[in-house]
Amino acid sequence: MHRAVFMDRDGTVSEEIGYMYDAGLYKPYAYAGPAIRRINESGMKAVLVTNQSGIGRGYFEESMVHQVHDILQAELSRHGARLDAIYFCPHAPDAGCECRKPNPGMLLQAQKDLDIDLTESYVVGDKQIDVETAYAAGAKSVLVLTGYGREQREMFMARDPQPHLVAENLKEAVDAILAGGLM
Ligand SMILES: [Mg+2]
Ligand SMILES: [Zn+2]
Repeated sequence: MHRAVFMDRDGTVSEEIGYMYDAGLYKPYAYAGPAIRRINESGMKAVLVTNQSGIGRGYFEESMVHQVHDILQAELSRHGARLDAIYFCPHAPDAGCECRKPNPGMLLQAQKDLDIDLTESYVVGDKQIDVETAYAAGAKSVLVLTGYGREQREMFMARDPQPHLVAENLKEAVDAILAGGLM
């Protein structure tokens, strides 16, 4: 079985710019490529898990999400990095699906597709729902302070579940994960 680092997209791997109605606005953080390359080199799986309810809400087409992910993979490959899999939930919040975070559906699908041991894996994200997703899947959680992270940290400081680690950004999160301090 494999270990994995599940990463949220907006505000974690790339800038948070609200609903992504134009793929031209998409901007991965400069440290994302090098950080994900280090995950690749470690033998852990690098997996993107993102809620894209803008599809279900009718704000943009699913093809736009694929365009954005092509841009992301191209940027990563410039750094010798790659995502082993990308999962996105296209549903609106009221659709009652199993895949929208904080539900663990996307992680459970990855567990089957990639033979992942969730108890030895991590979820990195900038929102409390990412923390909740980690707990729902039995994984460890890292809250990053980029994107909505800083305000989410304040808002949920006194509420469970708490992240296993708070990191400045994805680079620091990956440093900590690869150092093995969280298990
Ligand atoms: Mg996010
Ligand atoms: Zn869904």
